[in-house]
Amino acid sequence: MMRIDIISAVPDLLISPLNTSIIKRAQDKRKVEIFVHNLRDYAYDKHKQIDDKPFGGGPGMLLKPEPFFECIEKLLSERAYDYIIFPTPGGKYYNQQMANKFSLAKNIMILAGHYKGIDDRVREKFATDEISIGNYVLTGGELAALVIIDSVVRLIPGVLNDSESALNDSLMDGEIIEAPYYTRPAEYKGMKVPDVLLSGHDKKIKEWKEEQSKILTDKWKKINNLEK
Ligand code: SAM
Repeated sequence: MMRIDIISAVPDLLISPLNTSIIKRAQDKRKVEIFVHNLRDYAYDKHKQIDDKPFGGGPGMLLKPEPFFECIEKLLSERAYDYIIFPTPGGKYYNQQMANKFSLAKNIMILAGHYKGIDDRVREKFATDEISIGNYVLTGGELAALVIIDSVVRLIPGVLNDSESALNDSLMDGEIIEAPYYTRPAEYKGMKVPDVLLSGHDKKIKEWKEEQSKILTDKWKKINNLEK
């Protein structure tokens, strides 16, 4: 079973999403176990201080190194980790290939920054993968951790009811976007489902899906300035 440990200064941001829907079901089915560690539990001064002003000045507070070191070293003394992920705007852009890679791991640790971030010695000492989930700045690494966990856990065999459904999603097989989907009713507010999907003609449906997929993939590449 995969194990994921997240170290966070704001664990409440994680608890509810991790106990909802498919991620909850994955834990119930013993496909993954997820542990959230409250950074404050590893602060050893009497005020439980986890942040401090940055050296060299500047606005904002920084998460101190000691509570991270305490927690990470405790976890590392208990088991080896395949990946220690540090979500950061300065990291490598996250993509499906990285999710596929992480989904094969046994143990993953995620270090969530907050405020101005984490004392850089934590990244230097422990991070194996620095990951950005996009070209923007979040208030903390918790949402990035959830993005990574969601995209990884759904790939673990047996998590999704229909295991096929993850395999043919967009981007699973290279840079390909899936054709659009429709369900009943066949006509809604004057908008009709394409006739071919109602035809029962498997070969024509397959051709239509390939054609639509190509159109959407070209559009996706164009709007994202990706070369052909
Ligand atoms: N001072 C940092 C900087 O300029 O790079 C930003 C700190 S940000 C306000 C707080 C935390 O949110 C970061 O330490 C990181 O863990 C997380 N974070 C923010 N944006 C992110 C992104 N695009 N991808 C992944 N994590 C992000």
